[in-house]
Formats: sequence, C-alpha cells, structure tokens
Amino acid sequence: MNVSAEISLSEYLKKYFGFDTFKGNQEVIIRNLLDGRDTFVLMPTGGGKSLCYQLPSLILPGTAIVISPLIALMKNQVDAMRNFVSTEDGIAHFLNSSLSKAAIQQVKEDVLAQRTKLLYVAPESLTREDNVEFLKQINISFYAVDEAHCISEWGHDFRPEYRRIRPIIEKIGRAPVIALTATATPKVQHDILKNLGILDANVFKSSFNRPNLYYEVRPKVNATREIIKYIKANTGKSGIIYCLSRKKVEELAETLQVNGIKALPYHAGMDSATRSENQDKFLMEEVDVIVATIAFGMGIDKPDVRFVIHYDIPKSLEGYYQETGRAGRDGGEGRCIAFYSYKDIQKLEKFMQGKPVAEQEIGKQLLLETTAYAESAVCRRKMLLHYFGEDYQEENCGTCDNCTHPKKQFEGKDYVVKALKVILAVNEKFKADHVANILSGRATSGVKSYRHHLLDVFGLGKEKDEKFWGAVLRQMLVAYLIEKEIENYGLLKVTKKGHEFLEHPSSFMLVEDHDYESIDEDNAAASGKTAAVDDELLSILKDLRRDIARRKNLPPFVIFQDPSLEDMAIQYPVSLEELKNITGVGQGKAMRYGREFVDVIKKYVEEKEIIRPSEMVVKSIVNKSGLKVYIIQSIDRKISLDDIASAKNLEMNELLNEIESIVHSGTRLNLDYYIDEVMDEEHQEEVFDYFREEAEDESVEAALEALGEDEYTEEDIRLMRIKFFSEMGN
Ligand code: ADP
Ligand code: ZN
Repeated sequence: MNVSAEISLSEYLKKYFGFDTFKGNQEVIIRNLLDGRDTFVLMPTGGGKSLCYQLPSLILPGTAIVISPLIALMKNQVDAMRNFVSTEDGIAHFLNSSLSKAAIQQVKEDVLAQRTKLLYVAPESLTREDNVEFLKQINISFYAVDEAHCISEWGHDFRPEYRRIRPIIEKIGRAPVIALTATATPKVQHDILKNLGILDANVFKSSFNRPNLYYEVRPKVNATREIIKYIKANTGKSGIIYCLSRKKVEELAETLQVNGIKALPYHAGMDSATRSENQDKFLMEEVDVIVATIAFGMGIDKPDVRFVIHYDIPKSLEGYYQETGRAGRDGGEGRCIAFYSYKDIQKLEKFMQGKPVAEQEIGKQLLLETTAYAESAVCRRKMLLHYFGEDYQEENCGTCDNCTHPKKQFEGKDYVVKALKVILAVNEKFKADHVANILSGRATSGVKSYRHHLLDVFGLGKEKDEKFWGAVLRQMLVAYLIEKEIENYGLLKVTKKGHEFLEHPSSFMLVEDHDYESIDEDNAAASGKTAAVDDELLSILKDLRRDIARRKNLPPFVIFQDPSLEDMAIQYPVSLEELKNITGVGQGKAMRYGREFVDVIKKYVEEKEIIRPSEMVVKSIVNKSGLKVYIIQSIDRKISLDDIASAKNLEMNELLNEIESIVHSGTRLNLDYYIDEVMDEEHQEEVFDYFREEAEDESVEAALEALGEDEYTEEDIRLMRIKFFSEMGN
C-alpha cells in the first residue's frame, strides 16, 4: 500500500476507535487482510484481536462475517462496537438462536440495505440452510473466525460445528479469511490452517509472554488455609479462584465468607440473574474475590485482577494459560498460584471414562502436559511458552517459583545421549511414556506388545526410574533436541539439533522434577493441627467457666464444652471475632459468654508474652449438608418431627442425632411446637430444671436415672436437652 493509504489507516483508527497508535502487530495484520490475503492471528488475550477485523470491516465495502462461538460474547461485542464507533447505529449485528423471528427479519433487512458492516454469527446459525441462502445474496468483505482454536480437537474447547466452516464458505461465496485465537499450540495451529483451508495464510504471532505474571505451583496441602492466608495478606486486591466443580465453588466461597473475606461464587448452575449480579459486584469492587468454575472470565475485562488461584489443577495448559491470563492485564502485579496434587489428575482421568475413546486419548495427553508442567522444576515461563511454540531464551525469568527457588542442577549429558539412542531405536514412532519405560527397563504390557523388551537398548538407563526419564525427555523437548510430531501428536522425533548433540555430546544441565507425592496431605494436615494445648491456660479457662456457671446458675457444659476450651488454649483468641473461629463456638455463644474468656486470654497472652500461633485460624463452614438444611427449614415451618423423619427415611434417633449436631454447631432451633405435643408442661419443666440445676454432665443415662425411667423415654430427654442447649447455649 502507498503512503497516503498508510496515513488514512491511522486516521481510520482515530476516527472510529479514538486510538492514536496501533497495538503490536495490528497494523500489518490489517494491511494483510485489506490486501485480500488469508490471515492467521495468534495474540494473547487482551492483545487487541477484535480490532484486527473490526477496523477493516469498516473500511472495506460489503459486510464482514464474524464467526464466534458464544452468544453472550457476541452481544457484548456488538454493544461495545456500537459504543465505540462514533457513526450511526446499525453498523454491527448478530444472528443467532437467541433472536426472535421479528428480530432476525430486522437484521436481515439491515444487512440487505448494506448498513451492516459486521455480522456476528454462531457456527450453528451459519450452517443453517436458510441462512446460507440469505448470505449468498450479499456482498461479503471477508470472514473472520474468532476463537479459532475451537476448530481443533486438541484445543480445550473443541466445537464440532467449527469444522464445517470451510465447506460453508465455499457454498456462500469465497472471500479472504482471517482466523484469530489467543491459545494455540503448534498442533492446534496446524489444525486450524488445514481445516480452514488456509495453509498459505500469513501467520502473525505475537509473543505470548506475560512478563508481569508470576507463576507458582504449590502442593495441594491445606489449600483452603493457604488461600485464606494469601488473600488476607493481600486485602483489597481483586482476585479469581478457579475450582473444577460447582460444589467446590460454593463451598469455598462460603468458607471465605465466614473467614471475613468478601467473596462470591460464580458458576453455570446458578440462575443467570444472580450470576450477573455477582459478576457486577466483582467488577464494581463490592467484592474482592470471585470463586468460579471456568465459566467465569470470558469476555470480562477487569484490568486490575491481582491474583488468579487454581484450587484444582486445570484440565489443560490452554485453560491454565487463558485463566491465568486474566491477571494483571494492566501490566501491574499478577500472581498465579496453582495447587497441584496427583490425586486430582487421577480424578480427572476417571471423569473422562464415559467419553468416546478418541476424546479420552486427547484428554489424557492434555492432562499429561499439565502434570509435566506442574511437576517440572524448569522455569514455568519457559515451559508454558514452549508449549505454545515459542522459544524463551532467558536462563532465569526471575518471576516464577522455579527461577526464584531453583532446584540443584546436575550434569545430564550421558542421560541425554541414552534417551536419544532409545528414541532412534524405536524409529521415532513412540510417545514419551513408552520411551521412558524402555529406558528404565520396565516391561509394561505396552512395551511387550511391541516386543521392545527384547531390544538391545531395553533398560539402557535402568539406574533411574521412568519418572526421572520423563523429566529428562521434557527438558530435551524444551531445549529442542527432540520434538513432538504434529500430525500424530506426541510421537517423539529427534531434531537436527538432537542429531548434532548425538554426534558431539556437550554439557547439558538437568534438574529433577518436584516430588509432590512424598508430601502427604493427611500427615501435613495432622501435624498442623496437633499443636499443644496450653495446660496452664486451660485450667484458668476451666476455673472461669465454673465461676460463670455458678453466677448464672447454669451447668458449666452449657457455657463452653471441653473441646472448645482446649481449642482456645491452642489458638489464644483475643477478640470476639477470633473467638468465633473456635470449635463449637457460634455467633450466639460468642456474644453471650465470650467476653470474659477473651479478656482473660488477652491478659494471659500479654503477661506471658506469648507469641500466638502465626498460622491463621481458619473457620470451617458448619457442615450444612442438604439434609441439615432441609431439617432446619422444616423445623422453621413447624413440621412434625415424625413427618420430617419419614420424608427423609430416617429413624427418630437418627433425626435427633442430626438435630443435636445442628444445635451443637451453634444454630438455634425452636422445637416447642413439637415438644408441646409429646410432653405436658410439668414434665418439660422437670427435665429442663434437671439440666439447669442438677446435671453434672449432659449424659442422657444419668438424666434417666435421676428422673426415673418409667416417667421418661430417652427421646423425651433428648428433646428437652436440645431445647435446653438451644436456649441456654446458643
Ligand atoms: P483480545 O480480543 O485480543 O483479548 P480485545 O480486542 O478485547 O483483545 O482488546 C483488548 C483491549 O485493548 C480493549 O480494551 C481494546 O479496546 C484495547 N485496544 C485494542 N486496540 C487498541 C489500540 N490500538 N490502542 C489502544 N487500545 C486498544
Ligand atoms: Zn522462570
């Protein structure tokens, strides 16, 4: 293009979007498209992809067809476009199943009248016969395929309809194609070009490196506690926490809330009003943290998200990269912490079992990549960028856990030579796990089925196990000594560089993987808990309890039970707020009896100059199983206990167990409506007074003995004991 055209391109940018300069590759990309050439854009999220097709659509005659996978995103895009572009309305429209017949008619009229410059369609709508007929009549400037990774089964959100785009374009009428994506491994990239029939397209790849993001993987031990600690140390900062299940999302959001963190849940199972309300609160900074399934974040653009935490390890590195990419879009701090446990990987593998075999195979490969990333001690940034086909050259990125806390390196020249030999011995036709098995001399059924246990090289590296060899192979991949074949994904090939290495081996430093397995979750959790009880404080607290009991004329166990006092003698709560985190202490109990206890503890802590546990106290949510919620609601509605029991298929004593556990965890229940039916007033009073004045402890047997077994049933006693605890304790 000539100089005058160059000037006008920036003028268009200014005129329509108000920006002074293009971002990254935008200008060359747009020129390429304006010149009528097929174009492939790989740009990380936030790079400014949309403008690459929006601007040319405004310049070129005709209508651009934008194929986009999400109806919700389409509407946002169209709205944003209308806001941006300071010309008349009607410049962008969308066509999808959410529109009424009349609305569709209106859109079609606008398009035919050539007012529409951009028409967004879902692939399903594009392939509908009537739409094809309609689109045949119009002048199409170009086709834009957004989120183009959806074409590949190897992407993380494969959409089969995306596969049919090329034939449909042929039917409607040819025009240049621009495909755009924010995540594409070399394999996915190849699939996109091939499937869209644009193998000759000019490829514009921006660097995927996000220098301001800090990557970190932690063993999944006490993850909830770690998360709360992190958030509390970063109050006021916005963050997103991803979990894989809806249940976990709700549970974690609630746990954060009871620990005083402004957090809300977000997942696809919630009704859409609540969902968008929660999203808005996050955007408006009324809450700091959103706990979400992956459904959250698409199409939202909050620039100052300061941390993204993966409570569960994601199913693919594509997903991980996209989700972590939502941190620090403004170029400021962005901390990415993932909690990893191999158990989670196994769980994910199990979930896949019902799926078609081909899909399972792909899913397993993607999981392997995630595992490799998590367990590797190589620079996280280097691993990630390598995965997306980019060679990151720096020795130490300075902003990932493996670079800031490097593992010791050792000379690996001989190992690398051995691995190269084995890959060549199996004619470069096998994947990494198979090669690692041969190296370590494991005659697995897979190895035997190819008779590879009979090879000379079988057990060539038997001094090390297959896990070690897996790590070696991954580091060879990252160093481009070997590569994974693109067409048959995963088969290891020796590169030119690898052959050279084999001829003239040179120094090659290696690190071993992290060993997360030896960190036993249960052990770690237990050792964190068995902190010592301060016996001196415990006896002071017991004395205080006795005093208060006397003053109030109540049995001591109503005030606080032993486990609560013991927990206080471990945690040293010095405020009512902290007291609420103690086992068995609810809001009501803390308010009613707590003051004197925290005052005594505070004085004790000051006098003895006690350093309180730096480990924060995490309050867990009352175990509100569906059953408990049902019981609480039914009692509120004064439904007879017999009916509740039979509705839930429980024996009465089982129901009473549940009710007792509800009351013990601090919830007040009013059973009067039921007790009045089964016991007369006099009997009620007698049992109540017994607990209030005589009882040594809360035992039912003792009560029956004192009150007479012919007068009362066990059930009577338990009902009255519930009433007593509920009224006096909570
Ligand atoms: P992507 O689709 O690649 O995630 P977007 O197209 O949503 O990115 O653009 C990200 C942000 O960058 C948007 O807020 C957009 O308005 C802005 N943007 C795009 N191009 C420019 C530009 N040339 N100058 C300034 N801001 C831009
Ligand atoms: Zn690094």
